[in-house]
Amino acid sequence: MSRRDLIEAIDALLPQTQCGKCGFDGCLPYAQAIAEGEPINRCPPGGDATLERLAGLTGQPVQPLAEPSQLPLTAVIREAECIGCTKCIQACPVDAILGAAKRMHTVIVDECTGCELCVAPCPVDCIDMVPHPAWQAAESEADREAYLERRADLGRRRHRARQARLARQAKEKRLERQKRLMQQRRHAGSEGGAGSNTGVGPGRLRQRQMAVNAAEQAVKRVRQQLESAQRRQDAPAEATARAQLPEAEQLLADARSALENGTP
Ligand code: SF4
Ligand code: SF4
Ligand code: SF4
Repeated sequence: MSRRDLIEAIDALLPQTQCGKCGFDGCLPYAQAIAEGEPINRCPPGGDATLERLAGLTGQPVQPLAEPSQLPLTAVIREAECIGCTKCIQACPVDAILGAAKRMHTVIVDECTGCELCVAPCPVDCIDMVPHPAWQAAESEADREAYLERRADLGRRRHRARQARLARQAKEKRLERQKRLMQQRRHAGSEGGAGSNTGVGPGRLRQRQMAVNAAEQAVKRVRQQLESAQRRQDAPAEATARAQLPEAEQLLADARSALENGTP
């Protein structure tokens, strides 16, 4: 089996809640890590059933789950208490929350994977996690399996659609910023060279934008490592990530400054 097929096969066995409790930024990154030899016992929503299937696929031994398994949940917003800050929408990996700024928000229960990622960011603590009604209503093992398959299929599709949308928006924002900088540069040039980025050609500008993109990715990665270490209560990993963060942030600040001010 090729590495790509293996990753797809592993991903197909994961529950697709996209909760990050495995320490990775979603199910697909965990599938990629398992293909590289990461232990298979890190998925609480998958529980023992997923663990056994992963063992059958990868040949890794069945071992105790790193954290207790978890029954399917859904988020419910106590709408009267919601202040419409939109933080939960930003946190939801599958776009299962409806609402607008300063308006009451609500969870689309059929699309909620129960990942719990919306709970911590809510500033007024008005999100409860409860057993998923479809899971509770299931009367047989076949019904439960059918629900889990539906949740996984929907979770995977909605997560990918969200990632594609975020990537598109980030690209549009980048292009918009590049366009603005080019205009500023042309404007500065027409005024006799005063101002920023004067004399910096489009190739150089592109390089600087790429440096900013790379630095943003590095900061994001270190923050994810930090959050993951905190979640796992892994003190050495947390200390390492904390030590790396200031340097990554400084590199990002320098890269942005070089892009915006034309400094070397
Ligand atoms: S369901 Fe959560 S813990 Fe399991 S693989 Fe997906 S992101 Fe990781
Ligand atoms: S509504 Fe909350 S619990 Fe449900 S998928 Fe979105 S972030 Fe996860
Ligand atoms: S994070 Fe909490 S207060 Fe903010 S919109 Fe969501 S539910 Fe409402």
